Amino acid sequence: MIVVRPPTRSIWTRERVAFALSLWEKGYSGSAVADSVNREFGMSVTRCSVIGMADREKFPSHKVNRKPQPRAAAPRQPKIKQPAPVMQQTPAAMPASSVLFLDIEQAQCHFPLWGDDDVSIFDRRCCGSAVTSGSPYCDTHHSICSYNK
Ligand SMILES: [Zn+2]
Repeated sequence: MIVVRPPTRSIWTRERVAFALSLWEKGYSGSAVADSVNREFGMSVTRCSVIGMADREKFPSHKVNRKPQPRAAAPRQPKIKQPAPVMQQTPAAMPASSVLFLDIEQAQCHFPLWGDDDVSIFDRRCCGSAVTSGSPYCDTHHSICSYNK
């Protein structure tokens, strides 16, 4: 038996959830769904909001349609295990470039700015500065996370 939960005060009405689900099932990414929902309903939901709602509403997992990334011709180098970064920062110390962990782009520094506290995945932020070529980190964090000889 399917239990239908009573509507809450969520911005995600049944109509909006159904609209988002129709796009989700077509393989739209969270940010593409957010853009469409915003256009359709005059809202300003974020990709994180869509992903959180999709998780709560148990949307089916899907593969996002993306352009295939060009592969390097050279054989892959074995990955060097990097030490877990240890950095404690208060929210006030966040750099202006910091971005939400769930919104991080490939060209942005992935260095985590949250500490050992129990921070919600939706509140976790990364450095977000431009990455150094071949590294998931900016120059500063690449040097922190690398073994320099
Ligand atoms: Zn960084």
